[in-house]
Amino acid sequence: MTQTFSFSLHGTDGRARTGTVHTPRGDIRTPAFMPVGTAATVKAMMPESVRATGADILLGNTYHLMLRPTAERVARLGGLHKFMNWDRPILTDSGGFQVMSLGALRKLTEEGVTFKSHIDGSKHHLTPERSMEIQRLLGSDIVMCFDECPALPADRARIRESMELSMRWAKRSRDAFGDRPGHALFGIQQGGLEEDLRAESAEALRGIEFDGYAVGGLAVGEGQEAMFSCLDFAPEQLPKDKPRYLMGVGKPDDLVGAVKRGIDMFDCVLPSRSGRTGQAFTRRGVVNIKNARHMDDPRPLDAECTCPACSNYSRAYLHHVFRSQEILSSMLLTWHNLHYYQELMAAMRAAIASGTFADFETGFHAARAQGDIEPV
Ligand SMILES: [Zn+2]
Repeated sequence: MTQTFSFSLHGTDGRARTGTVHTPRGDIRTPAFMPVGTAATVKAMMPESVRATGADILLGNTYHLMLRPTAERVARLGGLHKFMNWDRPILTDSGGFQVMSLGALRKLTEEGVTFKSHIDGSKHHLTPERSMEIQRLLGSDIVMCFDECPALPADRARIRESMELSMRWAKRSRDAFGDRPGHALFGIQQGGLEEDLRAESAEALRGIEFDGYAVGGLAVGEGQEAMFSCLDFAPEQLPKDKPRYLMGVGKPDDLVGAVKRGIDMFDCVLPSRSGRTGQAFTRRGVVNIKNARHMDDPRPLDAECTCPACSNYSRAYLHHVFRSQEILSSMLLTWHNLHYYQELMAAMRAAIASGTFADFETGFHAARAQGDIEPV
């Protein structure tokens, strides 16, 4: 197994790409979807089950882990991989985004962000240097730069100011990260929906040099059409020979549209969170298992799906355990959703490799347009 971090591009189809991110903890096949393990667990899933869905890598949240159980405690207990029993790659975010969305009484300065914990009100300070230290203590394989991201819509002056601060923090993150063979540091492009600001940000990041590049600041309320417009130019501004990661995205059709535009990596809470609220993603669209129409339905959620929820249980049973608020409901629907997402990524990788991505995309949208199977 390789002892360094690298990226090989195997093929392209239009602007869509397929490749492999090599890490000492294993390969990541791209396009890749990373399930979110916020508090050192992908909710309702055992790590071996997450792996069984086809996931090559998980995401952990710096903000949550620094507050509880704390990065220092995780380090004393052998690092995040050992702590949560996941020996494959882990990417951690920088904490910046969640401080701004979850932290209370935030104060933003050139130095960093001071905030109060949403758990116990305790006061914390997060800077690029501290974020790098926390992600090192956790043992993260792919570390994200500490950045700041305005909610959209925002005026151009605010987006520019924020982007420039993030680029100064990117340099400080790079300096603080240092030289850690086998571990990667990703820069994060900002600039809202503005092509010239995105280009300036990409230029600044290229000057610093990173192991991979994220498109940040999207999926913050701008809508799919605006996001795709931005992805028509943003990924192309980043180096071709490094992985490109679209943070916090998204719904299945977001993933297909973003892969088409040159994105290699994704993370999103949607498949796991939706699993807990009774929503299942299928090739024919979203199914709400709580609906009464499933009460007497002996058929599986998706007859073509090979996940445990579809192989062993009926819609009627899935409806029953959801209605009864049984823990198994979250477990089965989360498994199904993660399995669906990983199959979607595998299908896109195969389509890109065989030069049939356009056909894949047509079939993907046609199946969804059919809608769910007729009620019994
Ligand atoms: Zn299934």
